[in-house]
Order: sequence, then C-alpha cells, then structure tokens
Amino acid sequence: MTTTTPPNVLRTAFQRSVANYWNAERDPVNLRLGEIDDLYHHHYGLGAYDPSVLAGPEDTRDERIIAELHRLETAQADVLLDHLGAVAPADRLLDAGSGRGGSSIMANRRFGCEVDGVSISEYQVDFANEQARSRGVADKVRFHFRNMLDTGLETASRRAVWTNETTMYVDLVEAFAEFSRVLVPGGRYVCITGCSNDVMGLRSKAVSRIDEHYTCNIHPRSQYFKALAANNLVPINVVDLTADTIPYWELRAESSVATGIEDPFLTAYKEGSFHYLLIVADKI
Ligand code: SAH
Repeated sequence: MTTTTPPNVLRTAFQRSVANYWNAERDPVNLRLGEIDDLYHHHYGLGAYDPSVLAGPEDTRDERIIAELHRLETAQADVLLDHLGAVAPADRLLDAGSGRGGSSIMANRRFGCEVDGVSISEYQVDFANEQARSRGVADKVRFHFRNMLDTGLETASRRAVWTNETTMYVDLVEAFAEFSRVLVPGGRYVCITGCSNDVMGLRSKAVSRIDEHYTCNIHPRSQYFKALAANNLVPINVVDLTADTIPYWELRAESSVATGIEDPFLTAYKEGSFHYLLIVADKI
C-alpha cells in the first residue's frame, strides 16, 4: 500500500463530523485504560468482572475498576481475533476503522502478520502509528488516513477484514462491497457491532441517545444480513454477545471514567431494543 493519501477521504458532512469527533476525543475512559499497557481500545468489554474490585480500600477502588474495564476490553478484542480463522505470518489483514490501534497491535502480536488499519481521524492515525513505532512493529502494522469505503488496498489482498464497533458510521452495503473486494476468495470478515432489534420496530429512545452521543447511525440487525448477502459474504457464525457485555457497562457506571452514556446502553440492552452482535462471514 502506498502512503499517499487519496483525495476525498472525507466525502460528506456526516464523515467530517465523525472525523471531528474522533480528532478531538480525549476521554479518560479511553486514555486512562490504554495507559495501563499501551493498548488503546475504543470498544466495549466482554465477560464477567471480578467483584472484588468493588470491595477493598476506597482510595484505590477507582484504579481497580479501570484496570478491570481494560481487561474486559482486551478480552473483547481477543474474542474478535478468535474468529478470524487461520491467519499465517505471510497474510495481510485490514482493521476497518482502527481507532488508536489496539486491536491491530493484538492481531500482529498473535499472528505475526501484517495489518493495515484505516481511520478517518488523522489524529488517531498518527497516534496509532506512534504506538506501532514504539513497539517496534511499524514495518508490519501501519495505519492510514483513509475511508473504509474506499481503502485504496489492492483487490483480493486480504486474508481477513474486521470491524470492531465501526459499522454504525457507514452505509453497510457500501462498506461490505469494499471489504468483499479486498478479501481473497474464502477470506473472512468479522464484525462486532451494536445493532437495533427490528423485532421491536423502529429505534428506541435509548438507541437514539447512543446515536446522538457518538454521532453514529446504528443499523437494524436485518440490514447486516441483507448487506452481507448482497456482497458475496456468507455468514458462518452469529453470536449474541449482549448478556456478556452487560457486566462491563454495570462496572463502568460505577467508575470515575463513566461518560454518561452508560444508562442508555444498559436500558437498550435490557429492554431488548439493542443487541451486541458478533458476525462472521466468508467471502465467496
Ligand atoms: N475499531 C477501533 C475503533 C472503534 S471507534 C477499536 O476497536 O478500538 C470507531 C472508529 O471508526 C474511529 O476510529 C473512526 O475514525 C472510525 N471511522 C468512522 N467512520 C469511518 C470511515 N468512513 N472510514 C474509516 N474509519 C472510520
């Protein structure tokens, strides 16, 4: 991949507001957790938390909660990587919407492969490239200021593509067309996302509040499968992770790094208007 930036990375007013959001974002919920071991995530956690973090000395309680939230977020990325299938050191992967780069760094660490991450936030791209440099993996893990709808990557160059909580920022048909294009035949796409529940009709108030908070556009569950089918991506695994992410949100609500969006997430998940889904599909 060349390092020149194609023109028109930001094509719409919507994309410019998303980029502005991530360029300005300095939330402690992301930075303080990332500082623990220099893996910076912009996604949520999975699994049960250790209840002992809430007990014990009051003066270190918040630190314990923050370390536990970070452990759950790293566990989430591990679950995603578990579903990428066999990846060899010679393979190349795409992290579409790569944030500050944590999942890409983990993928390289696990598989020894090359990873290209794309984000429409120049700030994040610089931050993530600095992480790759300081870890000595910049020859294999590279981040680019690119639009995931037009990555500039070679056709059929990727063993796997993933999106970790980024598809709510794009049109699914356009995004999956691009992922399908860059995947090798038999290559794998893995998505972790929040989606609204069509069974309950139009989006709930809680889901609308999440959209407003992040300047995103949460898609209904049905849209994912229509857009996959329309782009030769055939699901092999669908896992409802909702029950597994609720403890993370309950713990986060108890922490000093809560951002105020915890209640809408917990309400949406518990009322059933929103799911946390993992989707795995193969390119045919
Ligand atoms: N996947 C990362 C970051 C998730 S946050 C993680 O798990 O940590 C959402 C990310 O999507 C941000 O990095 C944002 O810049 C990116 N994004 C949103 N729209 C995009 C687009 N059209 N093209 C590329 N990246 C996009």
